[in-house]
Amino acid sequence: MGSRTQSKVCAHCGREFAWRRKWARCWDQVRYCGERCRRSSGRLDRALEDAIRALLRDRSGTICPSEAARAVERERWRDLMEPARSAARRMADRDEIVILQRGRRVDPTGARGPIRLGRGSAFPAA
Ligand SMILES: [Zn+2]
Repeated sequence: MGSRTQSKVCAHCGREFAWRRKWARCWDQVRYCGERCRRSSGRLDRALEDAIRALLRDRSGTICPSEAARAVERERWRDLMEPARSAARRMADRDEIVILQRGRRVDPTGARGPIRLGRGSAFPAA
């Protein structure tokens, strides 16, 4: 992971991205890693984060991101798998949740393959 001053976590996809010369004058205001993320739906992002919170509140253990996708979109939930993982990365960056693989905490940006989500140190009280 790079230094926090030279990289940020995208407000949509939750991936870490590095400073670029074109942002030299506006780096403090940059929130998204690129145009596609900038045009993303804030409403869907919030719905998925709410679903993850609600599922974790109801349960003592961990959840799968697909459960949050299903909670938001019962029929076409598969379309929401990547958005659900993005929501998980954003929440992990805020320590609201932790991302786990085989029971171990993993870096949200680099995680590949199936993940589970658990409550983090900053998980909000009900
Ligand atoms: Zn992004």
